[in-house]
Amino acid sequence: MNHLLEVNNLEINFKTYGGEVKAVRDVSFHVDKGEVVAIVGESGSGKSVTVQSIMGLIPTPPGVIKGGSIKFQGKELLRASKREMRKVKGSKIGMIFQDPMTSLNPTMIVGKQIAEGLITHQKLSKQEAKKKAIEMIKQVGIPNPEERYNQFPHEFSGGMRQRVMIAIALACNPELLIADEPTTALDVTIQAQVLELMKKLQKDTQTAIILITHDLGVVAETAQRVMVMYGGIMVESATVFDLFENPKHPYTWGLLNSIPNLEGTEKKQLIPIEGSPPDLFSPPKGCPFAPRCKYAMDICLEEMPGDYQIDESHSARCWLNDSRAPKVEMPFTLEK
Ligand code: SF4
Ligand code: MG
Repeated sequence: MNHLLEVNNLEINFKTYGGEVKAVRDVSFHVDKGEVVAIVGESGSGKSVTVQSIMGLIPTPPGVIKGGSIKFQGKELLRASKREMRKVKGSKIGMIFQDPMTSLNPTMIVGKQIAEGLITHQKLSKQEAKKKAIEMIKQVGIPNPEERYNQFPHEFSGGMRQRVMIAIALACNPELLIADEPTTALDVTIQAQVLELMKKLQKDTQTAIILITHDLGVVAETAQRVMVMYGGIMVESATVFDLFENPKHPYTWGLLNSIPNLEGTEKKQLIPIEGSPPDLFSPPKGCPFAPRCKYAMDICLEEMPGDYQIDESHSARCWLNDSRAPKVEMPFTLEK
């Protein structure tokens, strides 16, 4: 079966005064129709750069696409023309960002912002587009949709603005929705509501989602598969079940260790991972996590670990998974 999205060996650098930053290194993954795939990792791990490259949003320069391929429905996006890219963005891939205020046009009523894409990409008449836009406002749970159609972004709360963004992103029935920390800027109750809404719409429409988050609780609730990034590298990829039950990378152990009790009843102490994120200007020769890793061996400092296949849907880039490495178990069990 062909994957909906297939990213292979993606390499992206950024030119800066200090030198070239290696933002994404040899990243490969796929997304199938109707799946929810999460990407987790701390800031600077390359999550956003990876998804921005899918949308053709990496400014070049300073960005440099060093290599790799991004195929969407079999078509190479890295070599698509601006015109082709606009078409894909408008009708096949939707995107929502962390801060809806910066992505909405403050001078245009929100109804028109939803209707715009419908007119350009679905070729609806103004009247039809307005009707569909009002329907979308209703579908994302905003009360009084007719009245709300004529209001400006500043008249909406943060949570309601994110709902508007979801309405814009989903209006043209995209095959894939990319959500980059969609709830990070919202307070906790609103976060939960917006996530619930995304889950519901995903079920109804079977749109595939790439969800970027740093919150493993959100991953557990929402995604089927998860990819962990660190220092521009995909360090582990697994089903959500395997990642929580049988994680195979020390960085993932650290992440799991740092989340409060998943049930959310009694909060376990947050245990931060010691040390600082890797220097992306001159990343370590070997494993990027080595300077912070309790289990680092000599080889970790010298050579980048390969992507060890744990099973069909689970892989981890860590020398501990080599048959010659000492056996190390995950240093804790997750409370149930
Ligand atoms: Fe730690 Fe080595 Fe595994 Fe990197 S490869 S995470 S340094 S044990
Ligand atoms: Mg980001």
